[in-house]
Amino acid sequence: MALDHSRSTEVFGHARTVIPGGVNSPVRAFSNVGIDPVFYDRAQGAQVWDIDGNAYLDFICSWGPMIFGHGDPEILDAVRCQLDRGVSFGAPCEAEVRLADLICSVAPGVEEVRMVSSGTEATMTAIRLARGCTGRDKIIKFQGNYHGHSDSLLVSAGSGVATLGIPDTPGVTAATASDTMVATYNNLDSVRSLFEAAPDQVACVIVEPVSGNMGVVAPQEGFLRGLRDLCDQFGALLIMDEVITGFRVALGGAQQLFGVSADLCTYGKIIGGGFPVGCVAGRERFMSNLAPAGSVYQAGTLSGNPVAMEAGLAQIRKLAREADRLYPQLQRKSDVLFGGLRDAASQAGVQVQVNALGSVGTVFFTPDPVVDWQTAARSDRDAFAVYFRAMLDQGLLIAPSQFEAVFLSDAHTDQHLQAFLAAARTAFAQVA
Ligand code: PLP
Repeated sequence: MALDHSRSTEVFGHARTVIPGGVNSPVRAFSNVGIDPVFYDRAQGAQVWDIDGNAYLDFICSWGPMIFGHGDPEILDAVRCQLDRGVSFGAPCEAEVRLADLICSVAPGVEEVRMVSSGTEATMTAIRLARGCTGRDKIIKFQGNYHGHSDSLLVSAGSGVATLGIPDTPGVTAATASDTMVATYNNLDSVRSLFEAAPDQVACVIVEPVSGNMGVVAPQEGFLRGLRDLCDQFGALLIMDEVITGFRVALGGAQQLFGVSADLCTYGKIIGGGFPVGCVAGRERFMSNLAPAGSVYQAGTLSGNPVAMEAGLAQIRKLAREADRLYPQLQRKSDVLFGGLRDAASQAGVQVQVNALGSVGTVFFTPDPVVDWQTAARSDRDAFAVYFRAMLDQGLLIAPSQFEAVFLSDAHTDQHLQAFLAAARTAFAQVA
């Protein structure tokens, strides 16, 4: 029986009169799965409660930041302590330096870090920096990769842009879009062709080293190494957008996991411990071009905010301390959950592809392997919507889009995973 969402529905009705579409980020609207969104009231560990009092097991985890689950005591203590000492300075503080130190010590190839307030700002700054360093205008990105909502990166983007089927958003000028060249994920030939079509004009290649925003798609053997080589050959910078993968697929992110270093990389989500933080990071010879050390301008009133820095520090310190336990455990949970989902779908006679890498994964409703945007887009979104609604009715929260990831956290227990699988069996039966 469907849960009672009457209070959420009422608040959403009012929200739509004061907030465009009733939400502050499009996929939260649930419109593509045909229902109104639930409004959260509170969260603890692996659970959230909505304003109607319904409890859910949370496999969205705020879209990635909550790798220890909600209400981690170490993060909360760090935040409380800073609240008493000042919430915003707009001036240098030691916590920024400590967090930069910590990121440099665990992320391969990172020598300097510039804090910003979101993943979008981080990738936008990385692109400007790459252009400033090379004196070139064009960039190469991948169809179905999402790097936030700055103009030059909103071309053939994944995540909500793909979910809502907005191919090229109004407001991005043709001139801006023409500097963004779009390649096919996992296809080095497509990248080489773009380089050859614009020799000496490409400033950088930006890539999600593991795609999370067309659903989870792992890089095929040699893909990231091939990008590194092509960038070196054509004099362009390689930017790895580790906003999802950073500190998640390994302590040192995808660069550590795959042994390929970028020139610049971007982090967000986990490094803020649940607060709005992002950063651009990388080699000193590129990073030193940022103002005031260099002439590529970038700034932010709330950049390096002390509360956000303390939250991020607490989370990354804990990750570093517990890495030997945590990452293998997340992998084991991933095997149980995503392996179990494969079995459950097959028993129900539903054809799916379950792509997973570490603590992120996606169930695609398609019989064919998903390796890029073309193959992801063949998924049956109506089947996904049936699955999503059935999961929600049983108290399981997953991202309301075929083109997003299920996130696992340290707070998910074996019991939670079994509850997910039991709900999925019922959901697959409704899809079949
Ligand atoms: N890059 C990637 C890979 C992301 O997944 C996202 C957001 O989901 C962003 C950048 C943008 O980050 P934010 O939403 O913090 O602006």
